[in-house]
Amino acid sequence: MRDDCIFCRIAAGQIPAATLYEDEDFRVILDLGPASRGHALILPKEHYANLCELDETVAAKVLPLAARLGKAMTAALGCDGFNLVQNNGEAAGQTVMHFHVHIIPRYQNGPKIVAWEQGELSEQDKKQIVEAVKAEL
Ligand code: 5GP
Ligand code: ZN
Repeated sequence: MRDDCIFCRIAAGQIPAATLYEDEDFRVILDLGPASRGHALILPKEHYANLCELDETVAAKVLPLAARLGKAMTAALGCDGFNLVQNNGEAAGQTVMHFHVHIIPRYQNGPKIVAWEQGELSEQDKKQIVEAVKAEL
């Protein structure tokens, strides 16, 4: 736990947050600046800066927990779907450098939240990207 990390302090209960769920590994809270009604954040209690630093045992628990929350939100809030968003690095929009997963409920006719303009994948890029990434795995 890092005293200078806001999510460490929230996860430890030192700073109050609207908590939907808590166990020994995680606290799930409502986001203070929600993208939609019910927008929540899964926070591990241990400090990991991002996905690449996340402990694999903890990581294995994240998706089942997100599924549980998504089901509960669908039942409780009547959302029609939900997005999981997980930002890594400033360029990707990460503003709090403590790993977290956004669970964003989506409503029929609600605003577009996670969208991008589709580009094109050239044959040259396809080959280069596949070779370069495979070589690093
Ligand atoms: P990121 O951009 O790093 O993926 O997401 C950080 C999220 O944390 C943002 O959606 C922001 O609204 C939320 N957030 C930042 N500080 C606090 C806080 O003190 N309490 C809560 N509940 N959410 C916060
Ligand atoms: Zn932290």
